[in-house]
Amino acid sequence: MKGSGKISSVYSWGTGRRYNAFPDYFLGKFGERMQKLSIDAGFTCPNRDGTKGKGGCTYCNNKAFNPSYCLPEKSITRQIEEGIEFHRKRYRKARSYLAYFQAYSNTYGPPDELALKYNEALEHTDVRGIVIGTRPDCVNDQILDLLQEISRKNIVIIEYGIESCYDKTLNRINRGHTFREAVEALEATSRRGIDTGAHFIFGLPGETPEEMMNEAEIISTLPLKSVKFHQLQIIKGTRMEIEYLNNPSDFCIFSWEEYLSFIIRFIERLNPEIVVERFTGEAPPGFLSVQRWGLKRTDQIIGLIEDKLEELDTWQGKHYKKRK
Ligand code: SF4
Repeated sequence: MKGSGKISSVYSWGTGRRYNAFPDYFLGKFGERMQKLSIDAGFTCPNRDGTKGKGGCTYCNNKAFNPSYCLPEKSITRQIEEGIEFHRKRYRKARSYLAYFQAYSNTYGPPDELALKYNEALEHTDVRGIVIGTRPDCVNDQILDLLQEISRKNIVIIEYGIESCYDKTLNRINRGHTFREAVEALEATSRRGIDTGAHFIFGLPGETPEEMMNEAEIISTLPLKSVKFHQLQIIKGTRMEIEYLNNPSDFCIFSWEEYLSFIIRFIERLNPEIVVERFTGEAPPGFLSVQRWGLKRTDQIIGLIEDKLEELDTWQGKHYKKRK
């Protein structure tokens, strides 16, 4: 079956699931499920240390997303061991792992130092590859060449924080890079045959729901293998919290029902070739300044989204129009 249509119960991505889901993609490509293990390898970020900016992105508090075993004082190997133990208790199916360099900007350093850190992770017998979270302005030819070399024998995904397709928003949230820089980083990565991922946030200040919806068309044209979408969460102690408390009407904080409706329509417009890894984010409740959704777990949320797709008899890419 081709394009965004549907024949019998299988979609163009080869499964009966109504969206192109990351676990299915992995299973199809590598023959097994893999669990990501978060690692804090002690990097910092050019948007915090003054190289690009100070104070970081207005919503940023990395502690909200780092699992407890993830501390830069521990070696990468130890974090992997502890991560495997942590996940074994919860997800018995995974036997292989991807080391997820998650905290801060994980390409921010000299290539020799980067190579040492990535290789330490890859030397672990249960680790099949690395996922590198970074900023679009934090890669260059040398770093991409290094990752291309590593990708010849290992799984490598570079996951860029892009957050918005609009420069007015990137400026306002103090990202310190433009959307054009994000596109260039994706193109340079994809040209080298390295899998590209990207992260986007819905609900950033100053963006209308219509502008957010229009991002489906823009994202659909990017050389992206996978995407993660998050609803905006206001994290305690961030500059964005102050901005929100001073001017809440400038933010589009979705209720769960609003977000469900939004994300279904968004997915209908998204290129069916792009694999969706996440629909929502989930900072621990203690970090949240604004509690809106109650305590829905990720698997419950995915179930509710799948039920809604079924109820509406719709699917990823149903209304996607490929640009000529
Ligand atoms: S680029 Fe990432 S780590 Fe750096 S300030 Fe922004 S969100 Fe935080």
